Amino acid sequence: MHNVIIIGSGPAGYTAAIYAARAQLEPVVIASSVAAGGELMNTTEVENFPGFPEGIQGPDLMMKMQEQAERFGAKVVYDDVDSLELEGPVKTVKTMLGETYEARTVIVATGSAYRKIGIEDEERLSGRGVSWCATCDGFFFKDKTIAVVGGGDSAMEEATFLTRFASKVYVVHRRDALRASKIMQERAFADPKIEFVWNNEVIGISGEDSVTGLTLRSTEDGSESTLDVQGLFVAIGNDPRTHLVHGQLDLTSEGTIAVEGRSSRTNLPGVFAAGDVIDPTYRQAATAAGSGTVAALDAEHYLAALNEAGEPDAGVDQLAGNIA
Ligand code: NAP
Repeated sequence: MHNVIIIGSGPAGYTAAIYAARAQLEPVVIASSVAAGGELMNTTEVENFPGFPEGIQGPDLMMKMQEQAERFGAKVVYDDVDSLELEGPVKTVKTMLGETYEARTVIVATGSAYRKIGIEDEERLSGRGVSWCATCDGFFFKDKTIAVVGGGDSAMEEATFLTRFASKVYVVHRRDALRASKIMQERAFADPKIEFVWNNEVIGISGEDSVTGLTLRSTEDGSESTLDVQGLFVAIGNDPRTHLVHGQLDLTSEGTIAVEGRSSRTNLPGVFAAGDVIDPTYRQAATAAGSGTVAALDAEHYLAALNEAGEPDAGVDQLAGNIA
């Protein structure tokens, strides 16, 4: 029986692992088989994580977090969670590779998944010109004309990065003002390869075997137009990844896992949640790391209270102080 199983290996998961490992709880991190390290693995330069004045590459930052967790005894498993049983004093985690883990506490740090536009042909042309990851696929668009859809930091980051390869990058945004931070906006505005297409949404993607163009619709007057591009990068935000806990953990109206106040406590005793999966607002690497810290401390306090009670299932409801 483990003390703590952490599901997810982004900044929230690894920071929870660092704290839990230093508290000698010997946490197990189910890191995912293909997506270990989380969203920062698809990022280039991270300029706003404290402690790195020169910036650091996203994958390097995640490798350092993992190393730090392992240094204190965290065990990282490259597997994916298939199902969870979170009720009761003993939690069961079953994985895709057929392993079953039992633990007194679980920290859910599953992050968020790329949002899709939700139009016909998006799926069909995925990997054939439609992409959600500039750092993964940008290389394939050397000297091509491409479009990025979105107006947030992700869209600005993708567009700016893609100018390394593409001859031209359109940014298609549904309004006439960006949501992105000032510094990211200014960088994009100053780039001669980037052209903004304001007040438009993508309603169609054409191409048989690969993307050849987009159909746009004006959000002002509904008029339609076309844009000749060979690639489309979708950067319209993320949705919390909660499918594993549906029916077990309470969610908020925004779709994130509900936690009590500033804690990481979910509606189930011994189950904690951290990072993007509980955060509809800030969603930064630094805030996720802070959230992972909270979850590890909450799990530690919960386990200490269990030990004081002397038996694993004694008075769990009262000890956890969870939301009603
Ligand atoms: P976001 O801030 O939620 O922005 C999403 C953008 O996509 C918005 O401009 C939104 O338009 C647009 N959008 C949403 N749904 C759409 C749809 N169905 N069709 C067309 N457009 C749609 O998401 P994000 O850019 O991924 O950023 C998420 C968080 O990560 C933010 O907190 C951001 O600061 C952070 N982040 C930081 C960095 C960095 O600091 N280097 C880099 C990337 C992300 P509206 O504006 O009209 O709503």
